[in-house]
Amino acid sequence: MKIVKTIAEVRQVIKEWRKEDLTVGFVPTMGYLHEGHESLIKRAVTENDKVVVSIFVNPIQFGVNEDFDAYPRDLQKDADLCEKNNVGLIFNPEVDEMYDESFLSYVDVDKLTEGLCGRSRAGHFRGVCTVVTKLFNIVTPDKAYFGQKDAQQIAVIKKMVQDLNMNLEVIPCPIIREKSGLAKSSRNSYLTEAEKEAAVVLSKALNKGLSLIENGERNATTIFNEINNEIEKEPLAKVEYIEIVNLEALQPVSVIENSILVAGAIRIGKTRLIDNFIFEC
Ligand code: AMP
Repeated sequence: MKIVKTIAEVRQVIKEWRKEDLTVGFVPTMGYLHEGHESLIKRAVTENDKVVVSIFVNPIQFGVNEDFDAYPRDLQKDADLCEKNNVGLIFNPEVDEMYDESFLSYVDVDKLTEGLCGRSRAGHFRGVCTVVTKLFNIVTPDKAYFGQKDAQQIAVIKKMVQDLNMNLEVIPCPIIREKSGLAKSSRNSYLTEAEKEAAVVLSKALNKGLSLIENGERNATTIFNEINNEIEKEPLAKVEYIEIVNLEALQPVSVIENSILVAGAIRIGKTRLIDNFIFEC
């Protein structure tokens, strides 16, 4: 496994692989890898001849008051996890390799980015779409793997790939959880033991919502209230949003008639956590 820091080195490796007609899978990450990332990597390794993992904490997808500086980093541990899983190449650029001082070009996806996480994180998806476009152009993968934990991100990237004729397949992968139900996240490392216990409330509340739907409830307000009330029982948790939206347009629904995404974000102390489920009908 190679670890490289420059775009030119990635291009050289990909060129060699392409000469041998090898397929390339790609897993973009911000590092501090856990079993959630590992599940994407394992899937990519089974479906492609070679796999590239990028590890880059992308400054332009963080708001001014967000945790860019504090975001956890551990390249050695990440490299060990990648090596163990037969990753062929890690791309770990410095910020100025991706954005030199003359950088001016951004990628925006409209509408899909207005609600859910987009409402409270202005500019977040613009930063994500821009870096993912750059990474796709650098790595030129056949398939790229994303976690369903960031459900809005998947919808936005799929649309961007379709609209901008990017020549690759986006593969969504299921959410990996702790035994408690808490969705695995690099940001869970910010939580104290007490906060980690409290954080379980998000998956627990979403599960309650899912049970209601599975038992035939179709009124979105009733489902919202069930989830919201459950979270409000936890004194350490503060709801940022809970939304029930259709799967294609990510627009709020009042009655569940088609497939939906139920997504939420909470704050536990200073830590922001997200989770969701999809109900198909
Ligand atoms: P991040 O490093 O947080 O930017 O995540 C990189 C990729 O891993 C994204 O596609 C995430 O959706 C995915 N991911 C993060 N956590 C999980 C999880 N618990 N289960 C599945 N995928 C995940």
